[in-house]
Amino acid sequence: MVGGALAGEDAVKAGYPICCECSGIVDGTESDYNLFERMHWSCFHYTFEHWNSDNEGDRDIPCDDRSCPARWPAKSGPEAPVA
Ligand SMILES: [Zn+2]
Ligand SMILES: [Zn+2]
Repeated sequence: MVGGALAGEDAVKAGYPICCECSGIVDGTESDYNLFERMHWSCFHYTFEHWNSDNEGDRDIPCDDRSCPARWPAKSGPEAPVA
């Protein structure tokens, strides 16, 4: 399997679960996928947990959750910018 982006129907055919929130591929465990309402964990967090899910909190600003995805902006980027 070559790493790279599968999109939409191709991903579904390949058996990847699709996130209900952002329609992206969930490349994680199926148990997590079901646990988090068929979403990415991060999508689940932003939908239900981030700033108590009132949708008033900026997604780029970390909430009180220690594992909030907003705490790790460089995680999926190529390189963290050097100030
Ligand atoms: Zn998602
Ligand atoms: Zn958060």
